[in-house]
This record gives sequence, structure tokens and C-alpha cells, in this order.
Amino acid sequence: MTMRAINLYNTLTKKIEPFVPNEAGKVKMYTCGPTVYHFAHIGNLRSYIMEDVLEKTLRYAGYDVKRVMNITDVGHLSSDADSGEDKMLTGAKREHKTVMEIAEFYRNAFFDDCKKLNVKTPDVVEPATNCIAEFITMIEALLKKGYAYMAGGNVYFNTEKLEQYYVLSNQKEDDLMVGARDDVEEDSNKRNKTDFVLWFTKSKFDDQELKWESPWGTGYPGWHIECSAISIKHLGERLDIHCGGVDNIFPHHTNEIAQSEAYLGHKWCNYWFHILHLNDSTGKMSKSKGDFLTLSLLEEKGYSPLVYRMFCLQSHYRKPLLFNYEVLDNVKSSYEKLRKKTSSLKNEGELQAEQMLPFQEAFAQALGSDMNTSQALTVVYDVLKSDLDDAGKKALVEEFDKVLSLDLMEEPEKEKADGSLAAYVEEMIGQRQAARKEKDFAKADAIRQELLEKGIEIKDTREGTVWNLL
Ligand code: AMP
Ligand code: ZN
Repeated sequence: MTMRAINLYNTLTKKIEPFVPNEAGKVKMYTCGPTVYHFAHIGNLRSYIMEDVLEKTLRYAGYDVKRVMNITDVGHLSSDADSGEDKMLTGAKREHKTVMEIAEFYRNAFFDDCKKLNVKTPDVVEPATNCIAEFITMIEALLKKGYAYMAGGNVYFNTEKLEQYYVLSNQKEDDLMVGARDDVEEDSNKRNKTDFVLWFTKSKFDDQELKWESPWGTGYPGWHIECSAISIKHLGERLDIHCGGVDNIFPHHTNEIAQSEAYLGHKWCNYWFHILHLNDSTGKMSKSKGDFLTLSLLEEKGYSPLVYRMFCLQSHYRKPLLFNYEVLDNVKSSYEKLRKKTSSLKNEGELQAEQMLPFQEAFAQALGSDMNTSQALTVVYDVLKSDLDDAGKKALVEEFDKVLSLDLMEEPEKEKADGSLAAYVEEMIGQRQAARKEKDFAKADAIRQELLEKGIEIKDTREGTVWNLL
């Protein structure tokens, strides 16, 4: 089978380049999962929506994709540079619950959001707390190879041992470190300021709830090691593509590369895919700030989750996106119109394969051009405007929606409600007629009264019984 061409921007080479996996036809894809100490905000969800489109683009192009995602339920401290408190503990204290209760609650909430957004669950989802043995094995090997050292009871990765540490970004060291630290605090155990913790044993956070036995004493893993170990566990030594939000480039992904390649002794991952942030008028959305927009909040305000998905698809993943209700309102109205049109397409006329092909090519071309999702949406509108028969339009929209996942073939919610109301009223009218036939006028009147109480009036005319909303 020939694969359709896909070009992607690769953070590693800083170029748009053809995507070629290690093994023909197969893609090994890794996604950094959520830190489950709070609800995902719609910024986080932007990243997961665009990663979902990437996975589906690869599948649409003909690849067999295996995608793995971790769940961060230990080790991610309030500052990405190993200082502050474990975010999970912060969540547990905030809600007077245990870390595991918090993890389960927010993990379920995350997948509920994903389901509403038609974000497919990755083939493997692995919580960090499931893989302590794998982390220990990897850290032991790094110590043995001389890439790690012990200091003050913790195990650190020694970045000085690498030929090149800043492979993903060419920013200045100091800028990067400042960016990474919410609460700057020097750790005097570190030999180099870019060194990072692989395993904590002695830390000032004695109330860390989850701790495990290790060769270095009771403790818990650092955040970065989990993604390297979980990826290698499920996807092997050579990863094709690794994704995350742009804030993960440094230090998280930089450190993942450092420790994975030191451990494996060869290059680990060929393509790095990063999504730019969703910002609100106050700046970057952040879970730790506590005050953030969630999908449920948008739903409460009357926006269907798929309106937000469409909002994300309309802009390019490599551009920052500003959240704004005015724009969301426009998207809502265009989404509802679009879905009304696409869901009412009938299987009428012919499937004109030859005439359909240019649209399929245009759609693949848009996604293959560094995932130009807004262009891909334009192709849907082009199909609707075209002079193809409805059957062909329907088949194309159905095919494209495998990637867009906007439920384009389903009737809009409002229509559905109206539809089910009509079905209900017709059923009641039928029951009333049956009652009248049996001369059970009390029952017939009760049915009319019941409908009236629901704001539905029925009238008997020569053409039969008709109804209207009061
Ligand atoms: P976290 O749950 O904090 O570990 O983040 C989950 C994912 O969301 C990561 O891939 C982050 O890079 C990404 N992310 C965090 N903030 C934003 C944002 N404002 N916009 C888009 N993605 C984000
Ligand atoms: Zn990660």
C-alpha cells in the first residue's frame, strides 16, 4: 500500500520535512499525557485535539499507528525545574483527598472531555505510578553508564556528560532556565544547573504521599523519566514521533532526549511535534493559576464541545491561538449551518469516483502540508458547493470526518430534540386515537391534558389531528 505524503514541521530540525517512519507503513507515536491534579483547561485540550488530528491524519494517509500516552500522577513538581511541591500533592491538599483519589477523579474527567471532543483514546494509556520498576531499571543503567550521580540523597542526570544537550531549542541557557522556573530555587546538589532529578529520596517535602522502595532509598521518580521509560516500554527503542504542547520543549522533552539517548546509546525519536498555546486575554492559560476555562464551562454557556474542536481546527497548530467568545460565537453559527447541510445529504445520485478524486487529493494535500486543518475544512465547503451528486458529497464528507471528527453526518442537537419531540407527540396522538376508538374518552382527554401541560396543543381537523407548540 502506498502512503500519502505528509510534511510536518519538526522541532528537532526546525524545518518542514517529509514524514518517514522507521518501519514502512507503521508509526510509533508518543504523547505526553495530562498531570491529573486538576481539570484540563481548554488550552490543554487544544493540544490533545491537534494531536488527535495528527494521529488521524497519519491513519488517513494509510499508516498503522500505535499511540501511547502516559498519565502523570507523580513527580511533576510545581516548577518544571525540580523545585516546589508535587502537583498531585497540591491537588490532594486542596480537596482534602488522597493523591490516588485525585488522580482517578481527574483522569476520568480528562477522558470525559476527550470523548465529548471526539478525541480518540490512545492505544496504550499508562499512569506513571504503574511503571516504578521500569523507572528504577533505567535509572540504574544511567548510573552504571556514568550519566547519573547521587547527591544529597537524590539521583541526578549529569547533563555535562552529553555532547549536546540543547538539541530541541537554540535559546540561551539562562533564558530557558528562567522560563522553566515558576519559583526559582537553586538546588545546591546539582553539579550543573541544567542537571535534573531522576529519583528523589531526600527532599524537603516529607509529606510526599506516594513513595516506593528503590536501590537509593524510599522515594519517588522525577517527572521526565516517566515519559522516556513508558515510551520505551511500549514502543521500543526507536520512536517515530513525539508530541506535546510547546511548553514541554524545555526542560521536559530536552531531558527526555538526554536520558533516553544516554540509556539507549543511539538516536531515539526522529520527529518532534509541538502545539502552540491557547491564550486568553490575560495570557497563557495555566492550571496552576487555578482560574481557567474548562470544557464544562463552555458547555454551561451553551457551546457544544465540537464547536470548540472546530474553533481549534480553524487555526494552525503552530500559531498561538487567542480565545475569544466573539470568535467562538461565529464558529458556533458556522458549525451549526455546516452540520445541518452535511447531515441532511442523502444517498441520491451517483458516486462519481473520478470527479470525487480531486477533492480527496485536496484534502490529503491540506493535511499533508504541515497539517493545515483550516484548509482541510475549506475542502469540505468546496465539496458542498460542487456539482457532485449528493451521494458523492455524502461519501466524501463521511470520509473527511474520520479525521476532522466533527460529527458532520449526525443531525445537530437542536434538530434531534425537535425530532424526538415530534415522535413523542405523534405517539401520544396515536394513543389518544386508540382510546377514542374504544370510547375511553376519559383517557383521550387525559392525554390531551398531558400534552397541554407540556405546552403542546392538539386540534382535530378534517385532515386528522394536528398539533402546535403554545
Ligand atoms: P499538563 O497537564 O500540564 O501536563 O499539560 C498537558 C498538555 O497540555 C501538555 O502537552 C502541555 O504542553 C499542554 N498545554 C499546557 N498549557 C497549554 C496551553 N495554554 N495551550 C495549549 N497546550 C497547553
Ligand atoms: Zn512527557
